[in-house]
Amino acid sequence: MSFFKRLTLGFSMQRKLPKSMEYGRMPVQHLLGSAFPGVEMACLRAALRSVVPVRNARALDLLNLLGDVAENNVFSPDGGVESIIGTLRDFFQAQGGVIRTGVKVTSVNVSDGHVTGVTLADDSNIKGEAVLSTIDMKALFFDLLPVKASPRLFREKLEKIPLSDSYFTVTVSTTLEPGTVNRGGNMVRVVNPVVEEDGLFTSDDPDQVSLFIHFPESGTDTARGGRSLVQIMAPVRFMYENNWHSGPQYEKSPDYYEFRKKYATKIIERAETVVPGLSSHIVDIVIATPVTYRSCTGNDEGAVFGWRRPRMWRQKVPYTHGLYIAGHWTYPGPGVLKSMMSGKNASRLILSGA
Ligand SMILES: Cc1cc2nc3c(=O)[nH]c(=O)nc-3n(C[C@H](O)[C@H](O)[C@H](O)COP(=O)(O)OP(=O)(O)OC[C@H]3O[C@@H](n4cnc5c(N)ncnc54)[C@H](O)[C@@H]3O)c2cc1C
Repeated sequence: MSFFKRLTLGFSMQRKLPKSMEYGRMPVQHLLGSAFPGVEMACLRAALRSVVPVRNARALDLLNLLGDVAENNVFSPDGGVESIIGTLRDFFQAQGGVIRTGVKVTSVNVSDGHVTGVTLADDSNIKGEAVLSTIDMKALFFDLLPVKASPRLFREKLEKIPLSDSYFTVTVSTTLEPGTVNRGGNMVRVVNPVVEEDGLFTSDDPDQVSLFIHFPESGTDTARGGRSLVQIMAPVRFMYENNWHSGPQYEKSPDYYEFRKKYATKIIERAETVVPGLSSHIVDIVIATPVTYRSCTGNDEGAVFGWRRPRMWRQKVPYTHGLYIAGHWTYPGPGVLKSMMSGKNASRLILSGA
């Protein structure tokens, strides 16, 4: 940021800081309880609580989201999130960039406090003066970098920071007519369990979790031979039921597959409140547990949003010259949009030679 931008931002932050701190500490239930008191407002409180489907959500989390909606600051890309990836990939390649996928980075190489490149799982090396990491920060500092690359106190701090929750997701392909599935044209429906608001987002049991039911855009139904998709997501923790009955190294054993199938069956049954007949019109289901998210993203505990609360780490790592971080582990925080902003910030830092 320019000096002038930083100055203006500093002044406006000063003005907003006391309220931000107050609402940043306040549990969301307190705000809802004082704004919408009484038994007759219980449903509204529960509905608003569902806007921030995470454990220990703060009033500020809800206010941020409602503020974004009030200011028309909520977007979804035409063609889904994949279209963003395609656009960025094509542009990067058009500028001469080379993309490699399907092979893991196994170490970030450092010599005399400077990064020198990375080694891949196939033992090949890529040399470079800068490395930008978007992977789990613990994996970066504990597994990929040499121990000496960061101070002990920093690593101890990293070890203790709580992670965000994960998801259980079941995607159902159904023979139900699109109109039956998505009555009223809603994109997302929420099914809360019959518990007090304080009990929301505290349990991982299939009959107690809140369900977020997504419907695809109607245009894509034809491409699936007239079948409709229903995606049910539940915010859950990785450690539930002995890590979802996976093995000691999170192997997906027959027990694990059996358990996740039973779990999926129960939440599909509950989703019938919104999509009647769903259980008896299934063509195919695809299930992802926190163990799946862990193996697909490399995020510890399958954390879908990185840290439990956003951390404002510096994107230029102070301990190792040429190492940068981006993504939901760092500034400005989790989610697709903020991760993209952090990628842009980090690229600018690298290009400016800072
Ligand atoms: C099911 C689900 C639903 C979500 N819904 C939303 C939503 O509606 N809106 C929203 O804003 N956000 C949502 N999020 C969160 C959002 O997807 C993340 O915050 C965002 O993708 C983070 O981007 P990132 O680049 O930091 O990390 P990632 O997108 O996780 O990218 C990191 C990449 O690094 C790769 N990787 C890991 N280790 C290695 C290694 N050793 N070598 C090479 N590659 C490696 C991973 O495979 C991955 O591709 C959702 C997340 C999930 C899982």
